Amino acid sequence: MKKENSHAKKIFELLEMEYKDSKVALDFKTPLQLLIATILSAQCTDERVNKVTKALFKKYKRAEDYANADLKELEEDIRPTGFYKNKAKSLKNCCKKIIEDFKGKIPDTLEELIALPGVGRKTANIVLGSAYGRQAIAVDTHVNRVSNRLGLADADDPDKIEEELCKIIPEDKWTEATHWLIQHGRRICNARKPLCDKCILRDYCKFYLNKGKL
Ligand code: SF4
Repeated sequence: MKKENSHAKKIFELLEMEYKDSKVALDFKTPLQLLIATILSAQCTDERVNKVTKALFKKYKRAEDYANADLKELEEDIRPTGFYKNKAKSLKNCCKKIIEDFKGKIPDTLEELIALPGVGRKTANIVLGSAYGRQAIAVDTHVNRVSNRLGLADADDPDKIEEELCKIIPEDKWTEATHWLIQHGRRICNARKPLCDKCILRDYCKFYLNKGKL
């Protein structure tokens, strides 16, 4: 990390101490399961997705099972996650492409993953980081908010935030740092009422030092 990024260095040291063993909160055993769970997690809590996937993963085991599923039945199986019609279509189309282009195996490069229907950079980076053990920064709503408040990024666009974070976080920490920022956003730096009085990052936080302005 460069000298001018000592501000970021301090923040990530503190985050690491606080959230060292954080992992992705979605339950999964295979790259396919994580891909499915991540698609279902759009506009839905991880807890609810985990409840749904407990039964879903017993019924649908391979990409073929989603690709060949009856659309209405799949919609009902994932209904509690919300936006179930679009999500069911995405699951089917995504799995069809996985079968056609990758013989049923989930690809392990960003370019191939984002070429799948319904898969954006965030989902692709979650799969790469947590299912394939690669280094990848996934910008979800928590990473977006916390990075901007802390002054680690200055952008609304997730792709731009990812690019800015990649410059200030050492590459061997990209996946872990994503989890630390997510945990901090969930536990302390809430969207509506950040718990600044309890926050270990107060002294380094742009939002706090600017009295709630970015
Ligand atoms: S000081 Fe407040 S705004 Fe800044 S990171 Fe902590 S909780 Fe978030």
